Amino acid sequence: MTIYKAPVEDVGFLLNDVFQFDRYNNLPGFADAAPDVREAIINEAARLSEEVLHPLNTVGDEQGCTRHDDGSVTTPKGFKDAYKQIAEGGWMGLSSPAEYGGQGLPITLTQTVQEFLNSANMAFAMYPGLTMGAAAALTVHGTPEQKQIYLPKMVSGEWTGTMNLTEPQCGTDLGLLRTKAVKQADGSYKITGTKIFISAGEHDMADNIIHLVLARIEGAPAGIKGISLFVVPKFLVNADGSAGKRNGVVCGSIEHKMGIHGNATCTMNYDDATGWLVGEENKGMQGMFVMMNEARLGVAVQGLAQSEVAYQNAVEYARERLQGRALSGPKATDKPADPIIVHPDIRRALLTMRSFNEAARALVLWTALKSDVAHRSEDAKERQAADDHLGLMTPVLKGVLTDTGFANTVMAQQIYGGHGYIHANGVEQFVRDARIAMIYEGANGIQALDLVGRKLPRDGGRAVMAFFAEVGAFAKEHGGDEAVKPFVTPLSTSLGHLQQATTWLMLNAMAAPDNAGAGATDYMHLFGLVACGYMWAKMAKVAQDKIAAEGATPYLTTKLVTGRFFMERTLPATALHLARLQTGSATTMELPAEAF
Ligand SMILES: Cc1cc2nc3c(=O)[nH]c(=O)nc-3n(C[C@H](O)[C@H](O)[C@H](O)COP(=O)(O)OP(=O)(O)OC[C@H]3O[C@@H](n4cnc5c(N)ncnc54)[C@H](O)[C@@H]3O)c2cc1C
Repeated sequence: MTIYKAPVEDVGFLLNDVFQFDRYNNLPGFADAAPDVREAIINEAARLSEEVLHPLNTVGDEQGCTRHDDGSVTTPKGFKDAYKQIAEGGWMGLSSPAEYGGQGLPITLTQTVQEFLNSANMAFAMYPGLTMGAAAALTVHGTPEQKQIYLPKMVSGEWTGTMNLTEPQCGTDLGLLRTKAVKQADGSYKITGTKIFISAGEHDMADNIIHLVLARIEGAPAGIKGISLFVVPKFLVNADGSAGKRNGVVCGSIEHKMGIHGNATCTMNYDDATGWLVGEENKGMQGMFVMMNEARLGVAVQGLAQSEVAYQNAVEYARERLQGRALSGPKATDKPADPIIVHPDIRRALLTMRSFNEAARALVLWTALKSDVAHRSEDAKERQAADDHLGLMTPVLKGVLTDTGFANTVMAQQIYGGHGYIHANGVEQFVRDARIAMIYEGANGIQALDLVGRKLPRDGGRAVMAFFAEVGAFAKEHGGDEAVKPFVTPLSTSLGHLQQATTWLMLNAMAAPDNAGAGATDYMHLFGLVACGYMWAKMAKVAQDKIAAEGATPYLTTKLVTGRFFMERTLPATALHLARLQTGSATTMELPAEAF
């Protein structure tokens, strides 16, 4: 049996002290999230995650989903009831517009809740998560009629949503997509084709499933320029808004896969299914990008969430497992051996995980606040700066939080020794569940290419320059402060590495694009480390100020030690990434394919 305790105190420190949430009260929705409201929401999300969703995590893993001969799918025992609680509690509409029945609260709060849900039960959390992503795409690109038909029911959780991009021959390269759309006299389309790996494609938890589907209209240009987005409901919607006749889309099979067994990964067969165009013809990627960007941040949170729950269980185990004696002499003299938490190597692993999780959580909330500004500010310049930040940080968060999140679940498993390899102890499920986050929503290699090839050069490098300016200004302002020097000095060194790497790419990637491709993953991780280092420096400054003003607390003291560990032990990897990147692509590309 695994444990999970939502990191409520850490979230409170970040929202209230580090990012000063109330400073944003001029933005719509923020004033409604006053400190007492926020606290109530966060505490209730914690309770739901700890008491309702986490106990179902092993159940979901062991039972998985079952497809029946008629194409229907049954979710694991308890999922349906838990989903009802999520829907009826209004959790799916926390940040949705009030006109569709949502509460209009900041996205930052939704991201906080998402971390808890995904730590507690990632496979389950995907059902509401994908629905929110699909609703976001319809909110931005749907017609007024489509919004009226679908959004209230998706926001309330009565209906769920999916995203359908992948086909057998078409994964990363969506230009290869074949699903066909034929226009009908009434303006609708007949959709025919096969989509694979569709998360939450079929299940028994909601009355209708609203599929957002990429397809090619007959006669459209080949490649990515000929793709359109369609909304295809499982049940066609009656004039009174209720779910009516069955549409021509069925789940042909479900995958037996490494992890997230509680989430149905479906092959969806579309056979003359009725769909309606969302947005303009051949501009489907614009609509899908809204959903994909939402989903990428959501997947980044999954990486953090699995790392956090794995860490918590590893700590518990390390406190209880008795093996060997401390190098400095026995500590538990009344016991036959010391708990393994006395060993420096176990502490190294625990602090590596913990110091990453706390920085990653800060990074998620910092970026979520930018998302709120980008969507809600009335000031065009402020909106643009926030949007620049979102564009730049989305691939960094997705790639780094899921790569490191997975590595941390393996680290947690290692702390269990052989017991970590045994299913009954639970930690191996975190490893299996976390693994997918590195692959879907654009595999991490593709995130790195997006960062280097698109996000860096965009608008003449405006976003990256703003990031350098902000981190540089912080280091300059606090560089003379003795108390935060252990944070600011290494941050400045690593920022220098990132700036050198950026300059190297500017000088070497245009002429030889393989230099960018070969160094992209290193660059993405170098970027993520600097961003985490910046978060630590900010958190340390606030913690020091709080200690000076109000006195030390165990939380604040632990925070500072954890942060120093990150700066000493994790951040120096920026030098390694820079060195690797600067070797270029010559050796990587030298061998012919047949030599491998
Ligand atoms: C459990 C699960 C759930 C999923 N859920 C959904 C879903 O809900 N909806 C949906 O539409 N899809 C979903 N997917 C599909 C997923 O998004 C794809 O698997 C993913 O996008 C990669 O596509 P692919 O598997 O075809 O790999 P490929 O595109 O064949 O890529 C193989 C490898 O090559 C690399 N690669 C490819 N092209 C390049 C390039 N140009 N440069 C460098 N490297 C490259 C990739 O990074 C990857 O490592 C899901 C998949 C799984 C396993």
